[in-house]
Amino acid sequence: MQIIEVKVTPLAVPDVPLANTKGVHQTVFLRSLIEVVTSNGIVGLSETYGAKRTLKGLNQVAPLLEGLDPYDLRDLRRRIDSAIPANRGINAATALTDHKLADVVYSAFEIAMLDIQGKSIGRPLFDLLGGAVRKSIPFGGYLFFKFAKQDLTFGPDIMGEVMTPDALIEQAKEFRGKHGFQSWKLKGGVLAPDLEIETMLKLRETFPHHPLRIDPMGAWTVETAKQVVDKLDGVLEYLEDPCRGMDDMARLSAMIDMPLATNLVVVEFEQIIEAVRKDAVQIVLADHHYWRGATGVSHLGEICRAASLGVSMHSNSHLGVSLAAMCHVAAATPSLTYDCDTHYAWTTKDIVQGGPPRFDAGKLRVPEGPGLGVELDQEAVAELHDLYNRAMMVDRDDTDEMLKYVPDFVRKVPRW
Ligand SMILES: [Mg+2]
Repeated sequence: MQIIEVKVTPLAVPDVPLANTKGVHQTVFLRSLIEVVTSNGIVGLSETYGAKRTLKGLNQVAPLLEGLDPYDLRDLRRRIDSAIPANRGINAATALTDHKLADVVYSAFEIAMLDIQGKSIGRPLFDLLGGAVRKSIPFGGYLFFKFAKQDLTFGPDIMGEVMTPDALIEQAKEFRGKHGFQSWKLKGGVLAPDLEIETMLKLRETFPHHPLRIDPMGAWTVETAKQVVDKLDGVLEYLEDPCRGMDDMARLSAMIDMPLATNLVVVEFEQIIEAVRKDAVQIVLADHHYWRGATGVSHLGEICRAASLGVSMHSNSHLGVSLAAMCHVAAATPSLTYDCDTHYAWTTKDIVQGGPPRFDAGKLRVPEGPGLGVELDQEAVAELHDLYNRAMMVDRDDTDEMLKYVPDFVRKVPRW
């Protein structure tokens, strides 16, 4: 069995103006769909980022995979490393973090190859990772402050404006009713810290038994973060990336008992060593899209276990192929003991057959079919590819989009 064809399809998916410290989500989010075809007719699927640097890297590597044995992940890595310089990243220089393009491209094709392996032997992907320690994956509800969407050309709004603590509680209640989430994460760094503290306290009052997290994405100075921690002592399960950079995280960590989590300062294996040495974080967020695929997250889980670090899961806006991969990865990573993040509750379209999977009490069943256990709805793929062509957007720029809502917005991290 050899790879004979690789197809990379850029997709645009309707999005709504979810706010973060850098700005706000655009009218669509971008994804890449990967289909890897083998000589015996198996098609391996994967999904990853769709912005221009990632797309270019995927397209650069795609023709080099011809003749590759889908079981040979080391050969995959060799081919990618020979094509993509080690220092190339996927994000703009101003981004809060960067991911190595070679890792992101590897991750994308690795999932497709594991999907092929699973399909060829008739076993679910989690079995290729050592088996499932859980078959039902708990996801946290991902709450956002947001604007009422101005431009409805590519899709409707969800829930209108949510820019106060009380409106945020209503958002949580709506998600709770619809998906049954049993924990909450707030994307913070949007309102002034006092208002975000008030929001977390109101969430605690409304949902007394739900674990709570907030992720201001580096929006606070160490001093501000310390004040927030003092006011939310005993309220939060963990605090995600309150400060920007490893050293400020370490400085805060030394002052507090609350665990700090990150998807900004530890995004590569090498950084785990520095983080442990400085005691900068206590929880690392896994994400198979950049932690060298599903096998990479397995390794991350073991390293974190050995280093007494917790593991949680990070998410970007995504579709059902990624969601399936996230479920398999979570199923097969024993040390991933926190509810996973997902933006999926904000996703209104999908490309997998059978419609969007349904959360039951905030949990999703891991697909049991061969490989990822999902099949494509080709009509839906064509629709979102057409939207990609019509939207004429090739990169993500939350700050630029923010100027439509707040014309004098100036990006500043940390802001408070
Ligand atoms: Mg984060």
